[in-house]
Amino acid sequence: MNKMTVRDVSFAGKRALVRVDFNVPLKAGVVTDDTRIRAALPTLSHILEQGGSAVLMSHLGRPDGTRDPEASLKPVAECLSKLVGKPVQFVDDCIGDGVREKVKNLKAGEILVLENVRFHKAETAKDDSCREFAKQLAEWGDLFVNDAFGSAHRPHASVSRVTEFLQPAVAGFLLEKEIEYLVNKTAHAERPFVAILGGAKVSDKIKVIQNLLTKVDVLLIGGAMAYTLLKSKGLKVGSSRVEDDKLDLASDILIDAEESRKCQMLLPCDHVVAEKLEAGAATQVVKDIPDNMMGLDIGPETRKTYKDLIQSAKTVVWNGPMGVFEIPPFDEGTRDIAQAIANTDCVSIIGGGDSVAAIAKFGLTDKVTHISTGGGASLELLEGRDLPGLTSLTDKG
Ligand code: ADP
Ligand code: MG
Repeated sequence: MNKMTVRDVSFAGKRALVRVDFNVPLKAGVVTDDTRIRAALPTLSHILEQGGSAVLMSHLGRPDGTRDPEASLKPVAECLSKLVGKPVQFVDDCIGDGVREKVKNLKAGEILVLENVRFHKAETAKDDSCREFAKQLAEWGDLFVNDAFGSAHRPHASVSRVTEFLQPAVAGFLLEKEIEYLVNKTAHAERPFVAILGGAKVSDKIKVIQNLLTKVDVLLIGGAMAYTLLKSKGLKVGSSRVEDDKLDLASDILIDAEESRKCQMLLPCDHVVAEKLEAGAATQVVKDIPDNMMGLDIGPETRKTYKDLIQSAKTVVWNGPMGVFEIPPFDEGTRDIAQAIANTDCVSIIGGGDSVAAIAKFGLTDKVTHISTGGGASLELLEGRDLPGLTSLTDKG
């Protein structure tokens, strides 16, 4: 990475404006999953230990420019205070005189959390108001740190536009780690390099497939997206979830895969089917899906083939569950693949909200090398795209 990171600057006596991803789930004003808050702690400790202070900004939910009390970051500041074991200040806006006063009085070693940046429409606006808003935010720091990987694909005021007014702009440890795995480790992957793609829609992942076809040795397809691809080949998919308006696109992908001399793309050869998507529904394993049945998981022969290929891999990237993992017994294919990844000692990288939830559900989170904290951002990196939150940072050297 040729961008400056928190390692390249001194925080002593400095006030750091830090964009974090505190977009956490809340229930009745209490944080129900603090993973994202904990993910920001290494960067925060680093700043404070060097004798700096930190002004934190984040979005939460989609309040769309209104002051929605349910999207307030106040409970998040309280949760952060428990995690760092000391008081954390909070101010009920992110721009204006009230904030200026608090920021002015912030001392070395102290943390101030600003209210949700999306209470202001300008945060996400596509016109000049976004730039103006970014300028006001930039006042709160001597330098800028971006550690919000989950938002790094957004060209928003607090993510990327603020860097026009505040330099140096450096990456935090979390952002650095995500880039290390999702970009560097995949660009210079140890081979064989195997990617597993599944999930709901082929349309969500077309660009990921196209990019991975140029990078990996083997691409294993599962999930509902397999049925759009199989149908475009003229195979019978019964009542499986198919995107009928994407069949042409699916054919194009198959042609790309066929023509790729580099990559072998595999589709499932057998399926777990049922008449209805219901917990404990009567299932069958079939190769050809009958008209009244839907494919809800990859079958045992497919699992065996995929597991063998995963076993021989040196690098594995996984995005998207193999079946309806939320509803047993359709979780078995996803579990088998997760277990196979956990059993190897290759570099394993998992991205995508539901894939990460699946790994957690199976209790295998600790057995993989890197779990990405950002769904959308990790997908855009797997598509080979640049992230505004990264490109806007200060170059090294
Ligand atoms: P991720 O969040 O990991 O990127 P997606 O959002 O693309 O994954 O897809 C996850 C969803 O796909 C899950 O809700 C899962 O139930 C669904 N899914 C997987 N396989 C099937 C299938 N065969 N039929 C219907 N839905 C499926
Ligand atoms: Mg998802």
